[in-house]
Amino acid sequence: MADCIFCKIIDKEIPSEVVFEDDQVLVIKDINPLAPVHLLLITKKHIASLEEVLPVDEGLMGHILMLAQKLAREFGVAELGYRVVTNIGEEGGQAVQHLHFHVLGGKPLGVNIA
Ligand code: 5GP
Ligand code: ZN
Repeated sequence: MADCIFCKIIDKEIPSEVVFEDDQVLVIKDINPLAPVHLLLITKKHIASLEEVLPVDEGLMGHILMLAQKLAREFGVAELGYRVVTNIGEEGGQAVQHLHFHVLGGKPLGVNIA
């Protein structure tokens, strides 16, 4: 997608702090972290949001959630707890229209973060 900031980050046209990459997912640090650990797990396939996910993407969704679990453990937030969030649409607070999951942790998160 030509005007998608996350597609540009995936293509390395825009720099980011990459913490993990495979053929399906790019994981970067959020540029405006809301917690000590704030990762963005971005599908390499341009999908606008969870609303646009298709049955063919079922394996990708499983992969990305297992990756969230793995990275939360590696970043040391699994023991005390963390949050995995995907915002969807206008009232869901979605700013970037390319599917991504936030992994937040490292402090008590309360009920309104992300
Ligand atoms: P959303 O509201 O769409 O779920 O969240 C988008 C997230 O992407 C925000 O937390 C925002 O800080 C992050 N973000 C937006 N632009 C960039 C960028 O260019 N680089 C990085 N690393 N994060 C970004
Ligand atoms: Zn995109």
